[in-house]
Amino acid sequence: MSENNVKRGTLFVYSGCSGVGKGTIMKELMEADSSIKLSVSATTREPREGEENGVHYFFVSKDEFEKMIEEDGFLEHEEYCDNFYGTPKRPVEEMLSQGFNVFLEIEVKGAVSIINRYPEAVSIFILPPSLDELERRLRSRGTEEEETIRKRLETAIDELKIAAFYKYQVVNNDLQKAVEEILHIVKTNTA
Ligand code: 5GP
Repeated sequence: MSENNVKRGTLFVYSGCSGVGKGTIMKELMEADSSIKLSVSATTREPREGEENGVHYFFVSKDEFEKMIEEDGFLEHEEYCDNFYGTPKRPVEEMLSQGFNVFLEIEVKGAVSIINRYPEAVSIFILPPSLDELERRLRSRGTEEEETIRKRLETAIDELKIAAFYKYQVVNNDLQKAVEEILHIVKTNTA
């Protein structure tokens, strides 16, 4: 128990290849379970259509990102496909101490540093039903250039090799089943 008698929340590391459907699953998880909060990362990548600053990401310049590193403002930060991404430290700590279960939706290198730093963190990797399906989903999203899609698919193959080191692997074949499976994982690890 913390000072205010609230049971500290659990930290979840949540990863999966680009295009696997992590965002859609996350939305459903938060609607189904109000104890779940998503950490909003900072990134230097350009916003995609429909993405809002402060909701999907904090969209920052490279200089602003570097300033946050200097001020020790990140729990972890990484470069991914030519852009920088980082988990702001303070909001995560605040949400955990308020009793929320906090999901960090981050790529595998950042995930490894979080797991080393917080061994009690629960790690979940979302797998595509197949690589062909992943490619189809990335293309149908229509938000990335061909070169970006190619790079993200190559990165996905490397990431899949690391999936086995996560505590849980969930295949996103059927959205509702994947959501149910993760809600069950949350229950089991926060009871
Ligand atoms: P996207 O550009 O598709 O939004 O994200 C690219 C990758 O960066 C995804 O795998 C996403 O989970 C990861 N990512 C997002 N925020 C962070 C972060 O704060 N830290 C790290 N290490 N990865 C992140």
